[in-house]
Amino acid sequence: MRSTDDETAAQLLAQLHQYFVQHPVTGEHTRRAPTTSPTAPANLAVVDHITATVRELADFTRQANPEAEQLPERVQDAYRWCVENTANSPEAIQQRRDVIVFRQRLEHAIAMGDDKVVRPIRCPQCRGLGLFWKAEYQRAVCTSMRCLNKDGLSNRWSLARLATAHIEAQQKTHRECAT
Ligand SMILES: [Zn+2]
Repeated sequence: MRSTDDETAAQLLAQLHQYFVQHPVTGEHTRRAPTTSPTAPANLAVVDHITATVRELADFTRQANPEAEQLPERVQDAYRWCVENTANSPEAIQQRRDVIVFRQRLEHAIAMGDDKVVRPIRCPQCRGLGLFWKAEYQRAVCTSMRCLNKDGLSNRWSLARLATAHIEAQQKTHRECAT
């Protein structure tokens, strides 16, 4: 893993958490998706997002390493904790961890309205740049005219699929550089 992936994910999670702290949940809020301002997610959605993020990291880490020490108190420290406690795990586990961290990093950015985060990522099919985020599908769409699915429509990718393809390509480059 590039050391910055988990640090970036941690920073973004810290920002989300900060947002939540500064905008405490009141009875006014609903679970409706934000429509007015993309940078101001509904509070309950933020709480759910943070809870789901930390739970996923904790479940993954404890499964990989039942000896893992207690989860740190600050939510953003969950990344460091996850990486430290899986540093000696088999390569396949570490790769799964990197995929989770990278996907969560994308999720945090999109939750804060930064949907340009998908643009530097290569399309899993055509390997080109030109993905853009379609919130209504919750998918990144490839804008290449030649990159179509069997129905002749633009290929759409979930963040999980993008993260898997991105980490696999990164590992492949690492291996090729090492040999
Ligand atoms: Zn494509």
